[in-house]
Amino acid sequence: MSMFTAVEMAPRDPILGLNEQYNADTNPNKVNLGVGVYFDDNGKLPLLQCVQAAEKTMMATPTARGYLPIDGIVAYDAAVKSLVFGADSEPVTSGRVATVQGIGGTGGLKIGADFLKRLSPNATVLISDPSWENHRALFTNAGFKVDTYAYYDAEKRGVNFEGMLASLNAAAAGTVVVLHACCHNPTGYDITAAQWDQVVAVVKAKNLTAFLDMAYQGFGHGIAEDGAVIQKFVDAGLCFFVSTSFSKSFSLYGERVGALSVLCADKEECSRVLSQLKIVIRTNYSNPPIHGGAVVAAVLNNPELRALWEKELGEMRVRIKAMRQKLVDGLKAAGVKQDMSFITTQIGMFSYSGLSKDQMVRLRSEFGVYGTDTGRMCVAALNSKNIDYVCQAIAKVM
Ligand code: PMP
Repeated sequence: MSMFTAVEMAPRDPILGLNEQYNADTNPNKVNLGVGVYFDDNGKLPLLQCVQAAEKTMMATPTARGYLPIDGIVAYDAAVKSLVFGADSEPVTSGRVATVQGIGGTGGLKIGADFLKRLSPNATVLISDPSWENHRALFTNAGFKVDTYAYYDAEKRGVNFEGMLASLNAAAAGTVVVLHACCHNPTGYDITAAQWDQVVAVVKAKNLTAFLDMAYQGFGHGIAEDGAVIQKFVDAGLCFFVSTSFSKSFSLYGERVGALSVLCADKEECSRVLSQLKIVIRTNYSNPPIHGGAVVAAVLNNPELRALWEKELGEMRVRIKAMRQKLVDGLKAAGVKQDMSFITTQIGMFSYSGLSKDQMVRLRSEFGVYGTDTGRMCVAALNSKNIDYVCQAIAKVM
């Protein structure tokens, strides 16, 4: 009898569990479309040139590793603020954005969730149906009741926008609404600019709290284009939360680089909010790690490196789009009769393929093609070498 006798086995993380299964698979043709990671056309995880250049400079003048401030590297926080709101934007110049470095985008979300729990302990959190799996778990673990707002329409192969608006309209004042700023995970379907205007209007009219999760800025239509949604919330005069992740956009997954930004009414309020965010951080992990944040700050704050980053990010974006088209064409060539062109209307790393759980299981067991049971596939892991095989495999299970 030990003190842990009654501890139950927690379920495996669905995506990481899929990875383990993939690694153990001996099929030489196996393809991992499960995890949300961008691979280049050679199937390799890229190490961006802008990152290498920044690291080279950093290595040339090695620095000692003291503790960072609780809210992270000052130049990093400033760079994130400029990226999210615009360097010369009113929120930034008037000093009413509180930005803290986070441990990845997940860390940014968690700092925000913990702060919100202290601020509005009885609020409900609404996430999209479906959403990134961790949204529900993260906000639940922060102590919130988590519900969903309508989002995906399987029949229409798109967003059930009327349903989404109806869900938001029915939400009680103070409800926290987690919104995917761009490149919706897992469906790949975003709402249009005009639909965003309507969402902003409801958030304002119903006094909801928007929490924008920006994990894929630059993977949709471009850095500024994907960031444009933020401006809509600013223009409406709202206070809101934005979590940022550089995992994908800098291919720095394991460095855990992210942030939380909170737009406040004015500078004085902002300093109070920042002081509370710092308490959340201090009592969780004291202060963030240096390396990833230093790399991102060095790139974003140097015009040449920044231009290189934009170029490299653009190449990733363009390659994903090309793979979407190849997938549509390849499925047709492989004999799929159904119109699969919806894949090219989706955006970002993922595609909700519309395949059933049974079909996804067959893809894994018979062909070594790994996607999630929900039918989600990471199109950013397709390349010119595996695309034909994947198309043949999908065609055979359809
Ligand atoms: N939000 C969404 C929607 C995501 O897809 C992800 C990453 N899969 C994250 C947040 C977390 O990003 P990070 O890995 O930087 O913690």
